[in-house]
Amino acid sequence: MKGAYRTKAREEILSFLKEHTEQRFTAKEILTAVSERADGINKTTVYRNLDRLCEAGNLLKLKEPNQDSWFYQYSSEQRHCDQHMHAQCNVCGRIYHLDSPFVKTFEQNLLEECGLMMDPAKTVIFGTCETCRTFKSRSRDLARDLRQRS
Ligand SMILES: [Zn+2]
Ligand SMILES: [Zn+2]
Repeated sequence: MKGAYRTKAREEILSFLKEHTEQRFTAKEILTAVSERADGINKTTVYRNLDRLCEAGNLLKLKEPNQDSWFYQYSSEQRHCDQHMHAQCNVCGRIYHLDSPFVKTFEQNLLEECGLMMDPAKTVIFGTCETCRTFKSRSRDLARDLRQRS
């Protein structure tokens, strides 16, 4: 019975992260999501499985600056997430897979000009995505309109 739970936890973790390939989660968030889907999955099982899945290359484990906790993200075989860097929206958390040629050029320049060989699996660029920028400016406009009216 114990073995069945272990396999179940692994499957649930993978399917949850596969459904959200554009996002990354903390172990705690994964635990919450997975326990909602299946009974009898405990913290230890989830944490142990996360480690195993990282070792097997199914997941990426990343640490973001100024934050204590690790983040996990699904690493698909087709996408080779361990071989390119990612960008992330600070506001909504959306992940961008940077596998286009301009990134390769950046990596090469970094190596040539600074002598720094980038570790793509650990590199994340932060910004604000188009949707969040539009939303921000809209709420700014709205606030201004309200001020003018009063
Ligand atoms: Zn990727
Ligand atoms: Zn965003």
